[in-house]
Amino acid sequence: MQANTLKERLDAIYDRIAAAASTSGREVADVHLIAVSKTFPEEAIVAASALGQRAFGENKVQELVRKTNALGRGTEANPLEWHHIGHLQRNKAKDIVGRVDLLHALDSHRLGQELQKRLAAADSYLDCLIQVNVSGEYSKFGIDPAALDAFVDTLSDYDRLRIRGLMTLASPAEDPEQVRPEMAHLRCLSEGIADRCTGQQPLLSMGMSGDFEVAISEGATHVRIGSAIFGSR
Ligand SMILES: *Cc1c(COP(=O)(O)O)cnc(C)c1O
Repeated sequence: MQANTLKERLDAIYDRIAAAASTSGREVADVHLIAVSKTFPEEAIVAASALGQRAFGENKVQELVRKTNALGRGTEANPLEWHHIGHLQRNKAKDIVGRVDLLHALDSHRLGQELQKRLAAADSYLDCLIQVNVSGEYSKFGIDPAALDAFVDTLSDYDRLRIRGLMTLASPAEDPEQVRPEMAHLRCLSEGIADRCTGQQPLLSMGMSGDFEVAISEGATHVRIGSAIFGSR
């Protein structure tokens, strides 16, 4: 069955998220959909927003700046939330200050240091997730699981960064069940750093178009879905 309109695709994703949450005994309100709008025009974001979608994910700073300049925080009826979901180059850190609600991929000490400096200058704070590489060689970025504890410790002086949880990019797989161990691993790691996170429970950003149901059953609080909503890139 091919759903054709944006509304049909978005509704289908909401339904699948609700079903996955319910199957695993979770509240659907605890699973946030980030509609990954990278490469798609602003009109696509406006259209999804009009259908009630609030959170959008971008992975290129220049594109994020362009879209946030154009759309801002949305309207009172349809507010917008912005997520930076991919690797962030250190020299672009300054450009995201004041623009994003959640940074998903804090992946180096030097990036943390630069963000701290820029946030302090702007008298601002930033909610961040630490990207962890639980997939081995597939991902170029992310903290090694064995180094996570020490990494969190190195951030403890950076009072402008609020560490909220973890994020990962799972390996690409034909069968989403194949990545379940990676997602379970991320959840387990998040429990280990829970006492150093801001908020009641660590957030877990994992799951994309091909594997978000497995991610939800393993505890994802944020799923990042692009192509299943907006089409192939
Ligand atoms: C593009 C992207 C996604 C969305 O991927 P889809 O397969 O299109 O759902 C999720 N997370 C990150 C970090 C991405 O860059």
